[in-house]
Amino acid sequence: MKKDKLIFELLEDEQKRQEEGLELIASENFVSKQVMEAAGSVATNKYAEGLPGKRYYGGCQIVDEIETIAIERAKQLFNAEWVNVQPHSGAQANAAVMLAVLNPGDKILGFDLSHGGHLTHGSPVNFSGKLYQPHFYGVVKETGLIDYEQLRATALAEKPKLIICGASAYSRDWDYAFIRQVADEVGALVLADISHPAGLIARGLLTDPLPHCHIVTTTTHKTLRGPRGGLIMMGKDFENPWGLTTPKGEVKKMSALLDSAVFPGTQGGPLEHIIAAKAVAFHEALSDSYMKYVLQVKLNGAAIAKAFVDRGYEIVSGGTDNHLILIDLRNKGISGKAAENALVAADITVNKNMVPFDDKSPFVTSGIRIGTAAVTTRGMKEKEMEKIAELVDEVIKNPEDEHSLKKVRKSVHALTEKFPLYE
Ligand code: PLP
Repeated sequence: MKKDKLIFELLEDEQKRQEEGLELIASENFVSKQVMEAAGSVATNKYAEGLPGKRYYGGCQIVDEIETIAIERAKQLFNAEWVNVQPHSGAQANAAVMLAVLNPGDKILGFDLSHGGHLTHGSPVNFSGKLYQPHFYGVVKETGLIDYEQLRATALAEKPKLIICGASAYSRDWDYAFIRQVADEVGALVLADISHPAGLIARGLLTDPLPHCHIVTTTTHKTLRGPRGGLIMMGKDFENPWGLTTPKGEVKKMSALLDSAVFPGTQGGPLEHIIAAKAVAFHEALSDSYMKYVLQVKLNGAAIAKAFVDRGYEIVSGGTDNHLILIDLRNKGISGKAAENALVAADITVNKNMVPFDDKSPFVTSGIRIGTAAVTTRGMKEKEMEKIAELVDEVIKNPEDEHSLKKVRKSVHALTEKFPLYE
């Protein structure tokens, strides 16, 4: 068959964009060649509804081995007793958890999207806010830190069945032990969605939620540096507290409920090529070189936060414990949208982001979110974080000055050329 020139030329353009530009989107990373190879492998051809050893299709003996290895590696990496590696994405992992533990109309308590939470934690535009009754906690205005007292007060008043912690734009560690204590007080389960800092948690650089939270979900493609996908884990399996049943009406342990909420609950056949790529990524994440990588991600986070603070920027919560910072641009007289557009024109990719107590809409926003996971994969260190802050600052000060944007773009290309991707 003739090669699809149109698409492959576009993919080459995308590769060039990634190579030449500065990738500061906190949820993105660059996978290794072997992760990409597994993701583009023949396993894409295989249907395998079910779980290893219990499939609804023949010919699964090899993908069974692949999926079993992925499960065992994920267990080792996160010190989990039980894992399901099949969710196609982070959103689907959360959907499966909610399907397993909630009935439509049940109350949930999540971190407010406009303060840094995720759509799947109860937003009215998402299934989680449409099917369930969402309540929210936020951050303290003065500190930008999670308002644990508000969390507890709302939990006591509303008695949710599920408390969700974890975020898309929160730069600090979490007090999972406190949240579990509150959940025990009101008879709720706790879901920790560690999509963003999963790699840092796996290697012990942030508090581990698995000993505290009943269920933990994550994406596999952010700091974890695997293919796009999701994971559901439990530190310890447990008897479901409410006599919840599988579709067949059987009362089972939480692991069985979660497995059946993934398939047949919310998905069809698992993506075995992506599961193979997840297995490769977990193997990499267990290595010494990945440990060095996550340490540097965190050092780079601190370095870039300091570099922006030194230039008069307001960082929500004043700094970071992880790989991301949320910058409040209100003292710079530019919206998140205008900043994002100007930065993209200089080949610097960030995303506009609401900041807590934002007065602008989600389409405009007052902030930008910056992450260090991708640039650290390229080999950049503290010195380069300083340079990146200088370049971003230059753009934000002169967002409409074509000459200045061109100059910054040239500096971006000179910097990225020194840290090649996919040589
Ligand atoms: N949960 C959190 C905290 C996230 O930040 C994201 C994605 O950004 C997701 C879930 C959803 O992941 P996905 O895009 O793979 O569905």
